[in-house]
Amino acid sequence: MNNLSSQDIKRLVLVVDDEFVNREMLGFIIRRDYNVIYAKNGKEALEQIQKHKNLLSLILLDLLMPVMDGFKVLQELRNDNELSKIPVIVLTSEKSAEIESLRLGAVDFITKPYDMPEVILARVRRSIELSEGSKMIQNTSKDELTGLLTKDFFYQFCERYDKYYPEEKMDAVAFNINNLGLINEINGRAYGTEIIQKIAEAIKVLLNMTVGMACRFSDTFYLYIEHRDNCEEMLTKFLNEFNSIFKNSRSRLVCGVNQNVDKKVDVYRRFERAMMACNSLKNNYNTNISFYDAELHKKELFEDCLVSDVETSLTNKNFTVYYQPKYNITGPRPRLSSAEALIRWKHPEFGMISPGVFIPLMEENGLVSRLDHFVWGEAAAQVRRWRDQYNITIPVSVNLSRIDIYDPNLENNFMKLVRDNGLKPTDIMLEVTESAYTDNSDQIVQVVESLRSKGFFIEMDDFGSGYSSLNMLSELPIDALKLDMKFVKNIAKNEKALHMVELMMEIAEFLKVSVVAEGVETEEQCRLLKQMKCDVIQGFYFSKPLPPEEFKLLIEKEVKARESEAKEIGYVNC
Ligand code: C2E
Ligand code: MG
Ligand code: MG
Repeated sequence: MNNLSSQDIKRLVLVVDDEFVNREMLGFIIRRDYNVIYAKNGKEALEQIQKHKNLLSLILLDLLMPVMDGFKVLQELRNDNELSKIPVIVLTSEKSAEIESLRLGAVDFITKPYDMPEVILARVRRSIELSEGSKMIQNTSKDELTGLLTKDFFYQFCERYDKYYPEEKMDAVAFNINNLGLINEINGRAYGTEIIQKIAEAIKVLLNMTVGMACRFSDTFYLYIEHRDNCEEMLTKFLNEFNSIFKNSRSRLVCGVNQNVDKKVDVYRRFERAMMACNSLKNNYNTNISFYDAELHKKELFEDCLVSDVETSLTNKNFTVYYQPKYNITGPRPRLSSAEALIRWKHPEFGMISPGVFIPLMEENGLVSRLDHFVWGEAAAQVRRWRDQYNITIPVSVNLSRIDIYDPNLENNFMKLVRDNGLKPTDIMLEVTESAYTDNSDQIVQVVESLRSKGFFIEMDDFGSGYSSLNMLSELPIDALKLDMKFVKNIAKNEKALHMVELMMEIAEFLKVSVVAEGVETEEQCRLLKQMKCDVIQGFYFSKPLPPEEFKLLIEKEVKARESEAKEIGYVNC
């Protein structure tokens, strides 16, 4: 054989086939573009692979061979971290074998007889390009933690699979570990990782019982499997077996299924649908499995409509900002101390839509940052207008989405906003939801610390709904905790809720940060919170969120109250 060196411009391809004619034929087809080496069974192939592993760009592998078959070779490659990165095209004529080899990590098939040389060459080229391209972006086809596919490769496989089997009925399945963050917090990250790996292993067993492939990203697994009528039974059994291992009752494995997928719909969307079904289980603890159905389809159409209407609604000023006052209750009278800016969408067709509906949706596709920037701009201008009109500064807090935290221009944006409106950083407060801190605490700590050093005031929103440990909290750069309203809701009715809030107040005291209670609706709740030394209250008890023209009445009232206080002090003094 020729000496092979890395200087060779032609890529190196190994052809493995026990039949001489087949080997020669393939060699002949690709020899012009590639350097070719040969092996006539699995054993020889493995020797060649070991010898040339750093140079091999592709393996063309026959499945049925004496001594050692192709399946065994695939298995051996799969078990080796380094070798598993060399792409393999399987040479076969049997459909079931093709699927099995896909599962074992092959990237493509070439069917015998080899009567379409240009197709074979194109496949070879594409597989090498894909593999090299993916190496360049540091994205291997395998998820390191589980050995399942990565999402990008998974989608490519699904598409390729469909091309081969356009008539095959398929199910798109999504599994999600609910509250993995909670598991990590309570039992440690290593335990969370162990759970992910256990699920992956169980999925591999499941795949052995059916035809299909799977990938993992974060706390989610996608499966593309051959449709079967007893799919619900099979998945329910899987879920039941698995869910018994969760120690914490708030964590569980849930599953969404898009059965018999519509192949006209692109592959991403098919899994979005499975995920929609999965997400529909969020507040439903009666079952762990849900199917994409007509109702979810209707919801999907509605959501599509909302997503496509964002830009025009921004242009047409259908979005506005409401302000909900926050009152400081530490003194003898509740003092209007600040406000929260809350977005409102008056949709031309659907009327007023709650941010509870569209914000999570826009968070999924990143459009939320367009909305956030709009709100921040409006809020800063509004603080300025009030100051000009009433000679009083009412700082306004704005909500930050997770995606904003990753924006490298975030700090510059806020600095510019403050500068352009002649404000100080303390006039704008930033609300970051607790669960964002648990998602990626390192990144957030860095971003928030930097914003704080510039003078911005940071509030942790929805405190109590995430799973921050005391340890973690003590290291977080925050100025205030906003108690999640579901804790406030029952304090007047329920001892347990009251104790929970007391505990949170103690945590705040320990952290030396102030507390804002949200969702305060009654006098009794207000009284109890004051007793517990809560600093600031936001809720319908004082006012619901208001458009600026109504909010100004609250400012006028506040200005009057402050004036009369000043007068009183003046009288006392003289
Ligand atoms: P949040 O930031 O926790 O805002 C507080 C929510 O509680 C607001 O709902 C407010 O109207 C509601 N609320 C206040 N007091 C009471 C009360 O006494 N009782 C009850 N039942 N509710 C009360 P809203 O305006 O519907 O906003 C919901 C969520 O949408 C917000 O929760 C926030 O997460 C998100 N959101 C709103 N505006 C924006 C925005 O501009 N950007 C981003 N990223 N998210 C926003
Ligand atoms: Mg908020
Ligand atoms: Mg909140």
